[in-house]
Amino acid sequence: MHNNYDLGIIGGGPAGYTAALHAAKQGLNVILFEKEFIGGVCLNKGCIPTKSILRASEIYKQTLDASKFGINTENVQFDYTKVIERKNNTIEKLRKGIELALKNAKVDVVYCEAQIINKNEIKANNEIYKCAKIICATGSSPKIVKGLEFDNEFLLSSDDILNLEKLPQSVLIIGSGAIGIEWARIFSNFGVETTVVELAQHLLPLADIEVSKRIERIFKTNKIKFYTQTTVEKIENKIVTLSNGDILNPEIVLVAIGRTPIHVEKIDSVNYIGDVAGEIQLAHYAIKQAIENVDGIKFDKNLTPSVVYGTPEIAWVGKREQDLDGEDYEKSFVLVSSLGKAWCDGETDGFIKILSQNGKIIGAHIVSAEASALLQQLVIAMQNNITVDKLKETCFPHPTYSEGVFEALF
Ligand SMILES: Cc1cc2nc3c(=O)[nH]c(=O)nc-3n(C[C@H](O)[C@H](O)[C@H](O)COP(=O)(O)OP(=O)(O)OC[C@H]3O[C@@H](n4cnc5c(N)ncnc54)[C@H](O)[C@@H]3O)c2cc1C
Repeated sequence: MHNNYDLGIIGGGPAGYTAALHAAKQGLNVILFEKEFIGGVCLNKGCIPTKSILRASEIYKQTLDASKFGINTENVQFDYTKVIERKNNTIEKLRKGIELALKNAKVDVVYCEAQIINKNEIKANNEIYKCAKIICATGSSPKIVKGLEFDNEFLLSSDDILNLEKLPQSVLIIGSGAIGIEWARIFSNFGVETTVVELAQHLLPLADIEVSKRIERIFKTNKIKFYTQTTVEKIENKIVTLSNGDILNPEIVLVAIGRTPIHVEKIDSVNYIGDVAGEIQLAHYAIKQAIENVDGIKFDKNLTPSVVYGTPEIAWVGKREQDLDGEDYEKSFVLVSSLGKAWCDGETDGFIKILSQNGKIIGAHIVSAEASALLQQLVIAMQNNITVDKLKETCFPHPTYSEGVFEALF
C-alpha cells in the first residue's frame, strides 16, 4: 500500500463501494476507508437484514394460512434464533461478495475511522493519504429526539431491534415511514401485539393519500393497531402516555422517526454522496449518485422509486394525487382483485394507479404483490417519455400482475 491515490473514499456503504468499483473500472487508483463493515447500513443494519427477517415472518404467516390452499399443516412454529442466524449468514455472504469485488478491482480497503483534512488529504491510522479527489459517503444514523433517547433496552433504534434474541409479546412503533411499516409487518406476522403511532394525518405520510388509506385498511385487517395525528406525550417506567390520553404498556418501543446524516464539516471540492448528503435516504439513490459522480451518468432525481416491503408490497414514483390539487390530470385505477394471477396466488388486496397529463405518465402508485417489479416498468417508461398510447402497444404476458399495469393504461 502507498499513500498517493487518484481517489480516496470514506465510507464503505452502497455510495462508497459503488464509487470505488466504478472508479477502479476506469483505471483509477482507489483507497476506501471503512470503520465498521463493508456494505454500510444497507447491508448490515438496513435493507438486507430487515428483508431477510421479513421473509421469514411471511413464510411463517403463509404456513399458518396454508389450509386455504388445501395444504394441511400442524403445530407450525418458528425458531427466532434460526431466523437471526439465517439473516446473519445472508449478510455475511453478500458482504464477502462485495469485499471480493473490491479486491478483484484492486481497491485498497483500510478498516479504520478516517477524517478529511483538506480537499486532497485524508487522515487515518495517524497517516496522511494524498488523494487527487475525495468522496465522503459516511451515511446516516437513527434520529434521536428529546424524550425518546435510545436506552438499548426499552427504547430501541432500528439498529437495536436487530439484536433482539427473542421477540417481545408487544411492541409500540413510533413513526410510520418505510422502517416503521416494515417492522410493524414483521412483528405482526410473528404474532406480536403491534401498535403504531404516527404524528401525521395518515400512515406512510410520504405516499399518495390513497396508498396511505389502503395501508390503514390492510393494518386493520391484520389487527395492527395504529394511531394517527397522535404523539407520545411521555414515557415513565415503561408506561407510554399518548397525546390523546391513551396509556400503553408495550414490552419494547421501536423509535423509527427518521435518520440524521452523519455530521461532517463540508469542505469545498469534496463530493458528499449517499445518506450523508441529506437528500433522499435510499440505497438505490446512493448508488445512482455514486455512478453520476464517477461516470458522469446523470439521472432524474424526481424519478427515484420508493418501495415498502411486506404483504402486499407498496411502491410509488413521481407525483401523488395530493400534489396535483387544482391541476388537470387523468387517473387510471385497477384493482388487483381483477387479475387472474392475484386469485391464483391468494394475493388479491391492492391496486395499481397511474396518473398522467396529456398522455405523459407523471406518477404511479401500486399496492400489490410484486409492486416493486411492476413499478419499474413505469419508471422506465417515465424516464424515456414513453406515453400511455405507446405503452398500450406493448404485449404483456398472462397471467401476471403486470397485466394490471396494461389494464390501467385504458
Ligand atoms: C432499517 C432500515 C431499512 C432500510 N431499508 C431500505 C430499503 O429497503 N431500500 C433502500 O433503498 N434503502 C433502505 N434503507 C436506507 C439505506 O440503508 C441507506 O439509504 C443506505 O445505506 C445509504 O448508503 P450510504 O452509502 O450513503 O451510507 P451507509 O450505508 O450508512 O454507509 C456509510 C458507511 O460509512 C462508514 N463510516 C462513517 N463514518 C466513517 C469514518 N469517519 N471513517 C470510516 N468509515 C466511516 C460507516 O461505518 C458505514 O459503513 C434502510 C435503512 C434502514 C436503517
